[in-house]
Amino acid sequence: DLKLTDVGKVYGGTVEVLKEIDLDIKAGELIVFVGPSGCGKSTLLRMIAGLERITGGTLEIDGQVVNDVPPAQRGIAMVFQSYALYPHMTVRDNMSFALQIAKKSKEEIAASVERAAKMLQLEPYLDRLPKALSGGQRQRVAIGRAIVRDPKVFLFDEPLSNLDAALRVATRIEIAQLKEALPDRTMIYVTHDQVEAMTLADRIVVLANKGIAQVGSPLELYETPNSEFVAQFIGSPA
Ligand code: ATP
Ligand code: MG
Repeated sequence: DLKLTDVGKVYGGTVEVLKEIDLDIKAGELIVFVGPSGCGKSTLLRMIAGLERITGGTLEIDGQVVNDVPPAQRGIAMVFQSYALYPHMTVRDNMSFALQIAKKSKEEIAASVERAAKMLQLEPYLDRLPKALSGGQRQRVAIGRAIVRDPKVFLFDEPLSNLDAALRVATRIEIAQLKEALPDRTMIYVTHDQVEAMTLADRIVVLANKGIAQVGSPLELYETPNSEFVAQFIGSPA
């Protein structure tokens, strides 16, 4: 489980972007963060990943406070909007890299990469360089790099926003399948896309004004938004 208690973020000692964030995320849940641009969605993900310091409150993973635990030891993998693949490495090597750093055996690496490639239908492309892939295939490699590390928690920061509409739908379906294939893993997914939020989420967290405006299932937020802001964001009928 992932537990945030009174979490806040102040950049550079003066700019408060988040405050009093309380959130309890169960293993196996897929949580979607939505909210206006600049409201702190990426900041929150980066704090959970350990890429950004938490300036107030506590973050616990499975009951342990991890505020000062380095990213590599948190059991978390993050997938970004821009795929950030290594351009000079094949798909296989891109997906193997983190495991090589972690000094896993050749056999273990090969097995993990095969398994992830199969899950993401990347088997035909393992020996290609990223430049010979489509945008959707590249994003699947980025997701594959996260899967091979076998994280407890997956963080996705607008992973599909660079894809065209058709690819977005196809890749969204793959992410839904990934959740089914890895039912005990927690996923947090940031998106601006209402359809993605409504179709993927177990629960949606609406962020606004430095805090959480509302948390609930897609249906709850749609049927009983607690503010005009949430209603507009979720697209409830007026
Ligand atoms: P978007 O939907 O546009 O991606 P977001 O919700 O992910 O937005 P963040 O990137 O978390 O928003 O940024 C939240 C606020 O913090 C913004 O006002 C941003 O300018 C500010 N911010 C982000 N990173 C830093 C930083 N390193 N130093 C100072 N301020 C920052
Ligand atoms: Mg962002």
